[in-house]
Amino acid sequence: MSQDQQADYLPMVRPEIDEETIAGVADVLRSGWITTGPQNQRFEAELSAYFGGRPVKTFNSGTATMEIALRIAGIGPGDEVITTPMSWVATANVILEVGATPVLVDIDPLTRNLDLDLVERAITPRTRAILPVYLAGLPVDMDRLYAIAREHKLRVIEDAAQAMGSTWKGRRIGSFGDMVSFSFHPNKNLTSIEGGALVLNNEEEAKLAVKYRLQGITRTGYDGMECDVLGGKYNLTDVAARVGLGQLQHLARFNAQRLTLVRHYFEQLEGGAALKLGTQLPPRDFENSNWHMFQIMLPLDKLSIDRAAFMAQLHQRGIGSGVHYPALHLFKLYRARGFGPGMFLHAEQFGRASVTLPLFSSMRREDVERVCRAVNEICEQYRI
Ligand SMILES: *Cc1c(COP(=O)(O)O)cnc(C)c1O
Repeated sequence: MSQDQQADYLPMVRPEIDEETIAGVADVLRSGWITTGPQNQRFEAELSAYFGGRPVKTFNSGTATMEIALRIAGIGPGDEVITTPMSWVATANVILEVGATPVLVDIDPLTRNLDLDLVERAITPRTRAILPVYLAGLPVDMDRLYAIAREHKLRVIEDAAQAMGSTWKGRRIGSFGDMVSFSFHPNKNLTSIEGGALVLNNEEEAKLAVKYRLQGITRTGYDGMECDVLGGKYNLTDVAARVGLGQLQHLARFNAQRLTLVRHYFEQLEGGAALKLGTQLPPRDFENSNWHMFQIMLPLDKLSIDRAAFMAQLHQRGIGSGVHYPALHLFKLYRARGFGPGMFLHAEQFGRASVTLPLFSSMRREDVERVCRAVNEICEQYRI
């Protein structure tokens, strides 16, 4: 690809890091303390304030955050955890990682999130937890979720990796509920390069989180050290924490910009070739979602090209796109555990036909228009 083309290439996502944050990172690097320390403490405190004062502990990835949440809940071999096949594979992998059994249920094709009717039906005496995912930042029906959990005495470990700043009936995701896990991967609405945070119920859980985060060690005084559980190496560096702090200041603006761009997407796609052919748009939620992604579903039976070719066409027009996600139960690791095609039809269909279009806070209105023109053009060109 030539330089010119690269210059106006529209990526699917691009983190927005301001100069103050970059300068702040330089200060941390010069400070002599670069791994977990004062910046991390501040980041945890600001996150805790953001979530209404609940205890928050950081980790070096969203995946680590989820795994430790499961360990804190005491979930392990013999336990079942109900989750969705339409997520990043980390969601189910962490359940395997702690030795428990992932029980998958299909998604609701409208919300693309796990279907709570199916969750209720999947509960057995071995079920210990529900692990919902808020795909693209759209929460599930939180009232219903917690009603089910209460009735069946289950833990809820929310994979809110994509839902930083999402709300439910005006309350922030993470400010209520059981354990809530976030990811700060560069693609997410708030990034710390890599990282994650767990919102906990009480100080006891927070202490466990700190212990599991660093080798299972507890320290007392200058030279007292004890290790009584098997922990890992999951702490967040101060460099990463400083990036996260810089992002947190702008999160409200980031999410407001995403919402504005999403409204523009809906307007621009209205009445175009893509919709006429049957392209499906995301649910029009302008209340709760932080609009982590804008995902369309292609009408593959009306097109002479497959999804990969569709994405290649976007790329040729200088537009990035992505797949979030292939249904995870179709991966070999899960097929080897008895899952397979035909088990979760809505997730499989979405996994085959969905395309994630560009959406990020520094994207412009004319970028949205360019994407919509391209999508309509490709649909027009390759309609059967
Ligand atoms: C990003 C993401 C994760 C994993 O987060 P990492 O920080 O990449 O480990 C887990 N679940 C979902 C739904 C995600 O989007």
